[in-house]
Amino acid sequence: MEANIVVLGAGLAGAGAARQLPGARVFEAGPGPGGYARSHEFAGAWFDCGAHICHSCDDAWLSLVTGRAPLHEMAESRVLNHKDGRWFAYPVQNHLSDLPEAERRRALDDFLAAQEKYRGREPRNYEEWCRFQYGDHLLENYYRLYTAKYWHVSMDRLATDWLGGRLLPGQIETILAGAKGGQPEKQAVFSRFRYPREGGFFALVRHLFDGLRIACGKKAVEIDSADKTVRFADGTSEGYGELVSTIPLPELVRILKDVPASVAAAAGKLLHLRHYCVNFVVERESLTDANWFYVYDPGIPAARVSFPYSLSGQRTGRTAVQAEVFRPGEDRPDEDSLLEQTLADMGKLLDFRPSEIAAAEIRCQPVSYVVSDLDRAPAVRHILDWLSTRGIRTAGLFGNWSYIWSDRAYASGVAAARALAGSGYR
Ligand SMILES: Cc1cc2nc3c(=O)[nH]c(=O)nc-3n(C[C@H](O)[C@H](O)[C@H](O)COP(=O)(O)OP(=O)(O)OC[C@H]3O[C@@H](n4cnc5c(N)ncnc54)[C@H](O)[C@@H]3O)c2cc1C
Repeated sequence: MEANIVVLGAGLAGAGAARQLPGARVFEAGPGPGGYARSHEFAGAWFDCGAHICHSCDDAWLSLVTGRAPLHEMAESRVLNHKDGRWFAYPVQNHLSDLPEAERRRALDDFLAAQEKYRGREPRNYEEWCRFQYGDHLLENYYRLYTAKYWHVSMDRLATDWLGGRLLPGQIETILAGAKGGQPEKQAVFSRFRYPREGGFFALVRHLFDGLRIACGKKAVEIDSADKTVRFADGTSEGYGELVSTIPLPELVRILKDVPASVAAAAGKLLHLRHYCVNFVVERESLTDANWFYVYDPGIPAARVSFPYSLSGQRTGRTAVQAEVFRPGEDRPDEDSLLEQTLADMGKLLDFRPSEIAAAEIRCQPVSYVVSDLDRAPAVRHILDWLSTRGIRTAGLFGNWSYIWSDRAYASGVAAARALAGSGYR
């Protein structure tokens, strides 16, 4: 007899799990599979749920996702920063020569002083990490500003466990060379990447959902782990022998029956961002050479701006733009005002007129980046320990509430399924 396995969520983690578990039934709240990796067409351009590129170095993943959709391969990314009307290369510490002379000297002096003063000291939080790595000037004038816009949490409350693959540790030679003169991008994580020519990021992974038993429009609203049943928003219920959840961990705790107070309290500590994408198309061949850029200015809500056609390598005579705004999870900004302000801000930064905008939209992902504050890791551990006593396995970015790229999300689903298969089904 086939094992009765239910997977909650049809994102990449759900696909990774279900592909290892023949017959598993996947229930997805949304109208289609893909989760955060999906893309949609708007005004003739493809947009993702925030800038997505494939920069994976994992051979197993690359063999799964390459060789299907035609890909645009880029040898290096062109990434800029914007602050106070000035453009400079990303990451700022590697390109100090882009700063005005007085500021360059100050940043370099502080950087060198930090290398002496903090040598061998272990940072206790992100603020200390930046201070020890880059010195006071870059901390106060760049990293603190960006953290406030992006994470909406003070730097001393952020952990450092999310930094792998994002900011490389201060490499003294690179920083000194960048202070003397322009140098090519040295951020290894972005040194080579791929993106589908057509269909957005989802075209890379769409086939991973083929052949799976996925029921969409099935939002789980209650789980009884004693009865082993899941109830859905449409009033139906399903029994399970084994359950793998990839839905956001706080949501899983909220819909589970008979949760101990300490587990509910731990779930209450988990923070996330709310994510808005302002997608638009400008009737102009090119607005910038950058693939994407970051905005430090506190008065401009958009934190990251990317150009889907530059990622897909298409030339259409128009420019597709995606400006991303990150807000605290509980925020509910007025979407029309945010759209209007972002279009006006981008017009100033990229120098186009409102009449050149062919079409614009704003989309919201209510649960986006997981905030890695100092409470996150112990709270997640406590919840996962309890879930394991209820026989529930979790996987994925949101299921394990820890930031991972798409390749790791899929692998985490695979790992959960293999652990389940290894333990024998009920
Ligand atoms: C802004 C942003 C940018 C990113 N950029 C990149 C990038 O450039 N490159 C890269 O490799 N990775 C990137 N990632 C990471 C990548 O998107 C994720 O690792 C991956 O898509 C997560 O897959 P998942 O299955 O864990 O979660 P999800 O894709 O979120 O899947 C979970 C699914 O569960 C469903 N669900 C939720 N609640 C319920 C419920 N109650 N009942 C049923 N279903 C439910 C959701 O609808 C969703 O489909 C980015 C992530 C973010 C947030």
